[in-house]
This record gives sequence, C-alpha cells and structure tokens, in this order.
Amino acid sequence: MKTTLLSILIPAYNESECLPLLYEKLCEVAATLPCDVEILFVNDGSSDDTLDRIKALQQNDRRMVCVDLSRNYGKETAVSAGIDHARGDALVILDADLQDPPELIPEMLAGIEEGCDDVYGYRISRRYERWFKRWSSRQYYRLLSAISSVEVQENTGDFRMFSAKALDALRRIKESERNMKGLFSCIGFRKKGIPYEQPPRAAGRTKWNWFKLLDLAIKGWTSFSVLPLRVISFTGVAVSVAAFVYLAVVLVKALIFGDPVSGYPSTMCVILFLGGLVLLALGIIGEYLGIIYRETKQRPYYFVNEVLRNEQ
Ligand code: UDP
Ligand code: MG
Repeated sequence: MKTTLLSILIPAYNESECLPLLYEKLCEVAATLPCDVEILFVNDGSSDDTLDRIKALQQNDRRMVCVDLSRNYGKETAVSAGIDHARGDALVILDADLQDPPELIPEMLAGIEEGCDDVYGYRISRRYERWFKRWSSRQYYRLLSAISSVEVQENTGDFRMFSAKALDALRRIKESERNMKGLFSCIGFRKKGIPYEQPPRAAGRTKWNWFKLLDLAIKGWTSFSVLPLRVISFTGVAVSVAAFVYLAVVLVKALIFGDPVSGYPSTMCVILFLGGLVLLALGIIGEYLGIIYRETKQRPYYFVNEVLRNEQ
C-alpha cells in the first residue's frame, strides 16, 4: 500500500447547488477507500454562496481544505492552484457538478497502486451533449494530435488520478499558458484509461460558452506546436512559386502576343486573396507573440485569497 493520503481536488465556480449532493457522494466513496482523504476545494472566485457552503461543510469535517482564489481564473488555473496546494501522495481531479462519477475513485486508486502514474477516465458515450459539441471536440483533438508531438487522449476530460511522481512533474511546469490536458500528456509516465459513462450535470449550468472553448482550442494548438508557423512559411513559398509562373505567362502574353492591358477582375482577386492570406499569417504569428508576451512577464498565474484548513 503506497498511498496514505488521497487528495480529491474539486475546482468550483458558482456550484452552490451541486455541493450538498457532491459532498454526500464523496463521503460515501471516502468511507470505502483504504487510505485517508483530503477534500480540496478550489473556489474560483464564485459570485454565489459556494464559499460559504464550503466553509459550513468544513466546520464538521477536518478532511476539508479550501483554497479561495482572489478572483475567477478559469478551470485550468483553478486545477493548477489545487495541485500546488494538495498534500496527498495521490490526487484525483473531479468536477463539482458530479459529471465525473466519484464511484470510479476506488478503481482509479487501484490503478495507481498497480504502478500507473496517470489513471484517466474516458467517456464511452457523450449522448447528453449536442452533436455539434461532440463533433467539434472530435475535430479539435484530431488536429491537436496531428500537429503536436504529444499524444492527447480523446474523449478525456480532467477526470484523472495522479501518482506522487506525476504530481511532482506537474508542479515543476511553470509556464503561464496552462492547457492542463496538454500538460497531462506532456509529462508522460505510465498511463491507464478507465471507461465511464458521463451523466448530465447534477444541477446548475455549464460555465463554458463557444468563445471560451475557442480560446481553449487556440491555446491548445499554439502551446503544443509551432506547426501553424511552418504552414505559413510553406504557403508563402507555394504562393511565390505560383506568382512567378503567372508572371512569366503575363510577360510572354504581353511581349510576344501584344496583349492589350486588361484584367481588373483577376487583379482584384489576387490582391484580395493575398491580403487575406497575409492577415491570416499575421494573426497566427500574433498568437505566438502573445504567448511570448505573457510568458516573459513571469506573472504568477493565480493569487490566493486564503487557504482554509481545519487543523487542530
Ligand atoms: N470551473 C471553474 N472555473 C471556471 C469554470 C468552471 O473552476 O471558470 C469548474 C466548475 O465549477 C466545474 C468544472 O470546472 O467544477 C467543470 O465546469 P463545467 O461543468 O461548467 O464544464 P463542462 O462540464 O460543461 O465542460
Ligand atoms: Mg460539467
């Protein structure tokens, strides 16, 4: 038996309605575990009474820890803050809305005891999500796997358990671009997948919108690959070659056949097409420049209001 304390990390942003149910389930599961647990909530700047509810639960439960962040930072950062503050020699990340069934924790722990370092849950069906979300998510992972050197598991969220070794590796990653799914793949180690059926949200509403998802997708691609930059270079070369060939055609037509000057439509097409291409290229370069800009400032990626532990 290697694991003596398991940290259960729950990032929570306006999850007041889910908390009682989640706590009840966690207590049931914790009672069946062969080790101690630490229930670590990260309050990600909730504007409802999530923090008060956590504090109320904490009064009667010494296993509860709450890291209260100074504002809302987003799930990725909240998870990082939790990993930094956890004291367990294994850690599992759970969503507060019970979409990640806590009943799977014993099986994940068994995986860690077997010697795996990263035991992740993968969804066998996502029938509670709309087809467009499923489809776009699939395309995102395909593209990410195709362009980056790390392999990112499809249909896998942040529902995972890490060994002490993997936790140590995650804590050593200091970049401010925190795409956790990519970082989990980036650290490597022995991984194991456990299938599960994802239920719909227990209560409350999802915090994601299309804009946030697009932001996450762009960050995922740009922080794990410079291939988009290379694609720009190749496109530039291809367009230049085509332009030279066309130039020769135009010259021959003008000099040998005495073509009268015309061609306003084709000139416009070429200018607009190239203008679009140049702006797209600048946009892609700008994304990478943005990463360098954020990274060079070396700003801490979260600030903690207070850490509440119930120790006596
Ligand atoms: N979350 C967070 N900060 C945010 C948004 C979400 O900590 O800014 C937490 C949220 O409380 C939940 C988890 O991240 O525990 C997953 O969020 P959600 O259920 O809204 O995402 P979905 O399951 O719809 O992808
Ligand atoms: Mg959810």
